[in-house]
Amino acid sequence: ESESDIFVKRQPRSTQLIADARSVLAGGATSNWQIALPQAVWMSHGDGSHVWDVDGNEYVDMHGGYGAAIAGHNHPAIVEAVSDRVRRGTHFAQPTEDAIWVAQELARRFGLPQWRFANSGTEATMDAIHLMRSITGRDLVLKVEGCYHGHHDSVQVSVLPEEDEVGPADAPNNVPGNSGIPQAIMDLVVVVPFNDLGAVERALVSHEGRIAGMILEPIMMNAGIIPPDEGYLAGLKELLHAHDAYLTFDEVKTGFTTGPAGATGRYGVTPDLVCLAKALGGGIPVAAIGGTEELMSLIADGRYEQVGTFNGNPLAMAAARANLTSVLDEAGYAHLDALAARAKAGFEQHITAQGLPWRVVSVGAKGCVCFTGAPVRNFRDFLTIDDQWGQLHWLLQHNGGVFLPPWGKVEQWLLSVQHTEADVDRLIANFGKLAAVAAA
Ligand code: PLP
Repeated sequence: ESESDIFVKRQPRSTQLIADARSVLAGGATSNWQIALPQAVWMSHGDGSHVWDVDGNEYVDMHGGYGAAIAGHNHPAIVEAVSDRVRRGTHFAQPTEDAIWVAQELARRFGLPQWRFANSGTEATMDAIHLMRSITGRDLVLKVEGCYHGHHDSVQVSVLPEEDEVGPADAPNNVPGNSGIPQAIMDLVVVVPFNDLGAVERALVSHEGRIAGMILEPIMMNAGIIPPDEGYLAGLKELLHAHDAYLTFDEVKTGFTTGPAGATGRYGVTPDLVCLAKALGGGIPVAAIGGTEELMSLIADGRYEQVGTFNGNPLAMAAARANLTSVLDEAGYAHLDALAARAKAGFEQHITAQGLPWRVVSVGAKGCVCFTGAPVRNFRDFLTIDDQWGQLHWLLQHNGGVFLPPWGKVEQWLLSVQHTEADVDRLIANFGKLAAVAAA
């Protein structure tokens, strides 16, 4: 049976809805990434760590809404905060007091004094790049090959290029990540490999005085999970500052999932700007950008207008406050760490028992299986990993009642504060089947 035959049998209602939707929703979904492998699953509801699709199939949710649902679903603290806000009005385009509370908490966690809000990760990274260009008056931006930062022009470059497009490893090609990106904008982005300080230095020297700054995911998460080498992040900050350029950490994915203060806290390197979104809002859309006094003064005095009708939306602020107060607290992180350790140990047991070369990469609530025995330090290494195991893993998990993000080797699972040991054990049991197949 093909993947889509299995899907049609298990999800007849989803299959019908996709067909119905195509007449009004382009492609039959609300984002192109919902169509990924093997096709969109239409959801009915979620509760705690579980979700139910429209066909009544129940899953342990480790997709986590692309890394946003760290509170799980229907979390009482979020429900209460959001319900209270709904009754008192959800939108004024004027600030509410929750915004101060959230900004203070973000300042405390990330060590950056000034904050603004937006609605998506895309907006946050767009603001960061604008700010770096604005303060320096320079046009060029450094970007890491394989990092994803959203869907605005300046970052849709070398996002997930294919092996035959990437060019030399030490001077990667600029590969458009979408259609509709003007060559003139592509030319303003200088692509460098992850974990390579020499490449950054060469770029800074060869474009002396023209590079505004660099944006990267401090832990790469568009390529499984690739942690930074020791000293890489601190080295970047030093190099960029030596050339009067700025450093932005895109912590949209890593922000709260890898620890209370993301990679910034984990590695003890504070960038000039940090972008947050996804897990910040406990399931409500919200993003934040934090920065040094110097950079954020551009916003404060209006040299850079950081604007948006829904910025600091009261509903989003109420949700973020409840999330940071009652979900992502010490107990929440202790629970996530314990579950992550259980998952890692469970995977490792199967890998060892079957004598496979694979390994589990686990950082806070995020994890993935790296289906290779070779070191993976950058996007080129990642490209050499065989896709088939990740895709088969997705399918086995899906049919075994665990909902993972698509693109087996690219995305990671997310644990939530409402996941249980039994949920993790289901994930591990399904993986056991894959390990047995791979070893056979
Ligand atoms: N930055 C990173 C690291 C991401 O993973 C994403 C989304 O996946 C974004 C930015 C864009 O965020 P959004 O989809 O909210 O625009």
